[in-house]
Amino acid sequence: MGLIVHKYGGTSMGSTERIRNVAKRVAKWARAGHQMIVVPSAMSGETNRLLGLAKELQPAAMTPAALRELDAIAATGEQVSVGLLALALQAEGLPAVSYSGWQVPVHTDTAYTKARIGSIEDQRVRADLAAGKVVIITGFQGIDDLGNVTTLGRGGSDTSAVAVAAALKADECLIYTDVDGVYTTDPRIVPEARRLATISFEEMLEMASLGSKVLQIRSVEFAGKYRVPLRVLSSFTPWDIEIAEEARSGTLITFEEDEKMEQAVVSGIAFNRDEAKITVMGVPDKPGIAYQILGPVAAANIDIDVIIQNVSNDGKTDFSFTVNRGDYQRTLELLKTQVAPATGAAQVIGDPKICKVSIVGIGMRSHVGVASTMFRTLSEEGINIMMISTSEIKTSVVIAEKYMELAVRALHKAFDLDQPSEAE
Ligand code: ASP
Ligand code: MG
Repeated sequence: MGLIVHKYGGTSMGSTERIRNVAKRVAKWARAGHQMIVVPSAMSGETNRLLGLAKELQPAAMTPAALRELDAIAATGEQVSVGLLALALQAEGLPAVSYSGWQVPVHTDTAYTKARIGSIEDQRVRADLAAGKVVIITGFQGIDDLGNVTTLGRGGSDTSAVAVAAALKADECLIYTDVDGVYTTDPRIVPEARRLATISFEEMLEMASLGSKVLQIRSVEFAGKYRVPLRVLSSFTPWDIEIAEEARSGTLITFEEDEKMEQAVVSGIAFNRDEAKITVMGVPDKPGIAYQILGPVAAANIDIDVIIQNVSNDGKTDFSFTVNRGDYQRTLELLKTQVAPATGAAQVIGDPKICKVSIVGIGMRSHVGVASTMFRTLSEEGINIMMISTSEIKTSVVIAEKYMELAVRALHKAFDLDQPSEAE
């Protein structure tokens, strides 16, 4: 019998009927002898509704004072959820108690709307568990050193759950969601996409950062740091299926690399539409130029992704990089008004209609030619590659957005992801 953390997403908590199902599922685990902690999200749509209200009254400049209130508002969604779930569990005849972030407490820094968890106190929770209670803790929120309510960023309940599991050294953290696991790619784009029975923590980290939305990336980082056994599974299976069957379903995020080495070279295809490309042309090729271009961009808090500098021609070079599409106009403006005059750049041009497609797999470490298979596949489809970036376990290309689905489908096939792998 173990200590288990369940996390339920907004869809799973979407109505009182669904909350009753969650309670029944949790009760089943508790009755099987497990100590249970549950971390739910706000009911689906609730965080959007709350932030929508806030937006109607929001000042133009988001000062720290305004951000503080946004968090105070957004955090209420989860408070309602935990209370409702506690009631539903009590109605099932199980002792249950709910806590907000500040009551546990879950300590965070003061970065409103994207706070990071520093530590979680476990005395109160442990005492309740020892007394045979199911403990329900709000996702998404915490408290800073001055007692201000903070939130962890959209999708942050995943991170709350993993952090709670790490703090209490839980045996496993089960993330119940509206998909039944992690897929080789998004099944909405490739119907042949398959659920992976296991994925390594490093691959999951790449998939999450490259655009797969199944888990908030920070939750994966947390799981890696504290080696929290993590499973993503569906909350739409009947609540009364066998625990053993449930515990084997979904996708397990593993730390055992050796087992994975036998499997496919590429485990998944990730993509991100949300990108834009910018090129600063004709800058002098001399020490300090990258800093002169990207320094002001970083200072404006704009995240930069793929970066390329060309060979120089007559002492001049071109410098390209990608940013989030939402930051495109702002970056272009900044480069035209500040960077170009300061560096003597000839021109700044951009393209907001690009996307990034990536192949991910720890098998890439031990196999050569994986990237070239990717390039060949794209060329056979007539897709032009604008930029390439690689790491040990992934290769990403930037291509025109209109080819994204074609590229993902072709790569899925080229790397045999349409076929079930032998390990499953
Ligand atoms: N309720 C928050 C959101 O919608 C946190 C979460 O669901 O994980 O982003
Ligand atoms: Mg989520």
